[in-house]
Amino acid sequence: METNIDIIGHKSRILYLEKLLKKEQHSRTLLFTGIPGIGKSLTAKYLIKKEICEGSEPPCSSCRHCRQFSMNTYPDFIHLRPDAEGKIRIGDKSGDEEGSVRWLIRRLSETSRSGSYFVLIEDADKISEAGQNALLKTIEEPNYGTTIILTALSVNSILQTIRSRALNIRFSPLSATEIFSILKNMHPDHDESILEFASIASGGSMEYAKILLNAEKFKKISDLCTDIRDMIYTNSQPACSLAQLSKDIQPADLTNLLINIYQYNLETLIAKTPLNKHFDNLYIDEQLIILKLLKIMTALKKSEVYNINKDNALKAMIYGIHKQETDLPFLERLQI
Ligand SMILES: [Zn+2]
Repeated sequence: METNIDIIGHKSRILYLEKLLKKEQHSRTLLFTGIPGIGKSLTAKYLIKKEICEGSEPPCSSCRHCRQFSMNTYPDFIHLRPDAEGKIRIGDKSGDEEGSVRWLIRRLSETSRSGSYFVLIEDADKISEAGQNALLKTIEEPNYGTTIILTALSVNSILQTIRSRALNIRFSPLSATEIFSILKNMHPDHDESILEFASIASGGSMEYAKILLNAEKFKKISDLCTDIRDMIYTNSQPACSLAQLSKDIQPADLTNLLINIYQYNLETLIAKTPLNKHFDNLYIDEQLIILKLLKIMTALKKSEVYNINKDNALKAMIYGIHKQETDLPFLERLQI
C-alpha cells in the first residue's frame, strides 16, 4: 500500500482534505497556498490519486487508474503548469493549444469518461489576469463532480473573484528537521553537514534545499556570502556578481536563500547555538550588521520587479554598512 510518507509535515491538512473530498458535492475548487517546494502539488496529486483509485486501500498504486495516473494518461485528470517561460498561457479561442487555459475550458466542456474531472493547476498565479478571468466562468459553473485544485504562492496573487469561490488551504513551510529527514532519505550517503546546511538555509522549502544540494550552486552562494562579509569588513570589491549568479538561480530564489542564511546567522548569534561548519566562512558576529543585511536583502527582493542594476545596488547598500550608518538612507535614494 502506498502511504503518504513522502508528504511530510501536512498530516492534519491531508486528513481534513480526505474527509472533505469524501463528501458528495456538486463540484469544488480548492486553493493551496504557500512558498514553493513545501508539497502543495504533491498533496494535490496524492488526494486525486486516492479519489480515483479502484483498490481497497487507496491509493494502491497498482490498479488500472493508479497506473494511468502515474503515467499521466488517466483520461479525466487535467494538469496545467507553467511552460519554459514560466507562464500558463490563455491560449487561442479554438482551445487547441495544449496546456493553456482555453484548452482546459474546452476539455471540461466535454463529457468525462468516469463522471468526474480532476484538475490540478500548478502555480495558478502564473496565469495572466485575462487568463484568470477566462477561467472564472468554469469555476463559477463547473460540470457536476469536477474538482479543481489551484496552487499559488499566496491568495493575493489570485483574482478576488476566483479566490472567493475557492476554499483556501494554507501550507506552512516545513521545519528544518522535516527537510533534513526528506533529504537523508533521498541522499543516504551524502555528507550530513551539507544536508544540515541545506535544511537550515532552505527556509522550509524543498525547492531551495535542492538548489543548495547542487555543489556548483552551493559554492556560488557560499562565495557570494563570503564576498558580502569581506565587503562589509574590508571594503573590498566583490569577486562574485549577483547579476551573474542570477543566471543560474532565479533572482527571487537567490534573495530568499540569502534571507534564510542571514536569519539563521542571527538566530545562532542570539541563541549562542553551535554553528554548522559550512556557515564558518559566511558568519557575521554583529547583530546590527545582520539586521542591516536582512533589510538590504528584503529591499533587493522588492527591487526584482524593477529593472535596476542589482550589483550596484548591493555595493551601494553595503557601502552604507561599512560607513557604520545607523539608518540606510541610500535605500530611499534608490527608491527600492
Ligand atoms: Zn489504485
